[in-house]
Order: sequence, then C-alpha cells, then structure tokens
Amino acid sequence: MIEIQNVDKHFQRKGKTTQALNNINLKIEQGDIYGIIGYSGAGKSTLVRLINALETPTAGKVIINGKVLSEFTAKQLREIKKDIGMIFQGFNLLESKTVWKNVAIPLILAGKSKSFIAARVSELLEFVGLADRAGSYPSELSGGQKQRVGIARALATNPSILLCDEATSALDPQTTTQILLLLKRISQQYNLTLVVITHEMSVIQKICNKVAVMEQGRIVEQGEVLSVFGHP
Ligand code: ADP
Ligand code: ADP
Repeated sequence: MIEIQNVDKHFQRKGKTTQALNNINLKIEQGDIYGIIGYSGAGKSTLVRLINALETPTAGKVIINGKVLSEFTAKQLREIKKDIGMIFQGFNLLESKTVWKNVAIPLILAGKSKSFIAARVSELLEFVGLADRAGSYPSELSGGQKQRVGIARALATNPSILLCDEATSALDPQTTTQILLLLKRISQQYNLTLVVITHEMSVIQKICNKVAVMEQGRIVEQGEVLSVFGHP
C-alpha cells in the first residue's frame, strides 16, 4: 500500500521556487491499478520519484507498506525499494546486454544464486512471451518486445508495487493495448499494485480502477474511474 500524506515538493533553481507538488493526499491500496493523469508539468513524475524515494518531500509523509520513508537510512531505503519495480517510456534497457542478461541484472545485484537466477529468468521470459528471445539484443526487438523485457526485469525481484511512467507512450495503439492487458494480468495474478502515470485518458480507461487527476501540482479530482470519467 502507498500513502501520500500532506505532501509538498518545492524545487529551488536560480533563486526561483517551483512548487511541483502542493498538499498531495493519496491512498493506493494493494491490488489497485491506480492511474495518475495530467498534462506535462502537472507533477506526475515528481510524485513517482517521491514514491520511489528518488526525491524527498519538502513537507508531508510518503508511506510504503506501512514504512514512513523519511525515517529510514539510505541503506534501509535500498531494501524497501526492492519492493518497488519500475518501467519507463524509453524502456531503459542495457543495449549491449542480451534480453536474458537485462532481466537477470536485478537478481545478480540482489546476490541470488546462479541456479535461482536461471530458473527465475526463464519463468519471467515465459510469462511475458519472450522465451525464444533470451539471446537477442534490445536493438533486435520491437518496441512492444522491449517493454516486455522491461516488465520482466521490473518483476524479477518480486516487488509488491510496479510504477509505470508513461510506459506505453512510445508504442502504437495495438501494442499499447497488448502491454496494458499484460500489466492487468500481472496485477491480478500477483495482487500487485500498479501506479500508471499517463497523459492519455484511453490508458486510464483500459486498465485503471482508480484515478487521480493532477493539475499544476495539485490533485483536482480522485476516485473510481467510472465516477470520475463516466463510461468510456
Ligand atoms: P509531469 O511529470 O507531470 O510532466 P513534473 O513532475 O516533471 O511533471 O514537473 C512538475 C513541475 O516541477 C514542473 O514545473 C517542472 O518544471 C518542475 N520540476 C520537476 N523537477 C524539477 C527539478 N529537478 N528542478 C526544478 N524544477 C523541477
Ligand atoms: P556478459 O555480457 O556480461 O559477458 P553474458 O550475456 O555473456 O554476460 O552472460 C553471462 C551469463 O549469463 C552466462 O554465463 C550464462 O550463465 C547466462 N546467460 C546469458 N545468456 C543466456 C541465455 N540465453 N540462456 C541462459 N543463460 C544465459
């Protein structure tokens, strides 16, 4: 579960203050597929960076599975962050490494045994439908296939939360639908919490059960997708 309580985030640059987030309150329950929608500059990325402990709030609390992030040391935060996977618009794969290695890296970093890694990577590639591409390099894959690798890598350490930052924005509509359906299946199968950052209403309507609408650093509306936006 993710709780954001009375969170402000200000940035200081050249003597000018940007109020990126303004009194944000949000509760995302385990198993939710929670959309965060808003135009560019609304504060979506800043919110995600706070959840992933890449930024600290100027005021307020970020609580992940009952843990108030500001109360932990950097080392303890690394442990907590193993419970959070992330996928990106630009996929962020290592181009010089095979699909297999890209998915294995979080497990290698976590110090897992060779036999564990071999079994887990096979299982993940099977799950995302890329078992036959283990030896390929990212440059040999389509956009949708690259994002499947990104998803397998994000799930490698078995997180309870998956943050998706404009994860389908670089993909064509048909591939977008396939990736969204895969994410929905993952959420249901593993009771994973998905946070879906997007500027596209269609993404929210395809998979999210709840949504927060952001404008200029504030949440201007939040709730069940059907009550916020009505039927598609
Ligand atoms: P979104 O993801 O919705 O496009 P962002 O969270 O990236 O919005 O940005 C929200 C606001 O905060 C913008 O005005 C942006 O310029 C500002 N901002 C974000 N990161 C920084 C930073 N590191 N330094 C200064 N201003 C920032
Ligand atoms: P690097 O690029 O760092 O040299 P490699 O990609 O060659 O690493 O692979 C390192 C290890 O990863 C290999 O010894 C092997 O155990 C495992 N590995 C790599 N690709 C595969 C694959 N397609 N199937 C199974 N294991 C693989």
